[in-house]
Amino acid sequence: MKNIIFIAPPAAGKGTQSDLLVKKYGFTHISTGDLLRKEVAEQTELGREIEEKMQKGILISNEIVSALLKKRLSAKDSEAGYILDGYPRKYEQCKLLESIMQELDMQIDVVLYLDMDEKTAMHRALGRITCPKCGRGFNKYEEAMKPKNENLCDDCNVELTSRSDDNEESFKLRFNQYIEEVEPILNYYKELGILRVIDNSGTPDDTFAKIEEVI
Ligand code: AMP
Repeated sequence: MKNIIFIAPPAAGKGTQSDLLVKKYGFTHISTGDLLRKEVAEQTELGREIEEKMQKGILISNEIVSALLKKRLSAKDSEAGYILDGYPRKYEQCKLLESIMQELDMQIDVVLYLDMDEKTAMHRALGRITCPKCGRGFNKYEEAMKPKNENLCDDCNVELTSRSDDNEESFKLRFNQYIEEVEPILNYYKELGILRVIDNSGTPDDTFAKIEEVI
């Protein structure tokens, strides 16, 4: 089984594509955003420290995110192959990841870059709604991703919620940060020969078909 990194603008659908890969191929989905949100939800000391930054879309320190990631990668289920979502987000994190990989005797096999423009990504971000019970993602603006009943999860019938950082101001900040940081990361993996660019402008099914061809 492969270890994959997903790189994409915020709200590009990494979560949706990861769910499809998990269901079909049994990958473990590891999202640094989820690891951090868990700390916030559990109101741990760390969670209280990072809550405000996360709401504003500000990046959390390398030290904190890398430590959480290393701990998560050490869990048994990562042996099944994993999808790393949200890390690396800046060039230094490529290097940090390389040392984590060495320490854990692991390797990244392929880096998938979901390519899309700001306007489309923003539209998706503002329409994104998630089930607080099962975590399934929907989108009120995307035909292919609307829930069957307005604002209710298809599986749990629970009311869907928006992420507090999916507002226009926070999205723009996150998108601009992403553009600044992503280029050196892409070059890094291109040089290693493991970068694959996926056109992400179609429906989630179109994107998934392209991903399957690559992996
Ligand atoms: P995401 O769910 O990937 O959109 O991440 C949500 C928020 O978590 C980001 O806006 C950052 O505040 C924080 N975050 C997630 N991954 C990282 C990372 N690799 N480095 C720094 N901060 C991160």
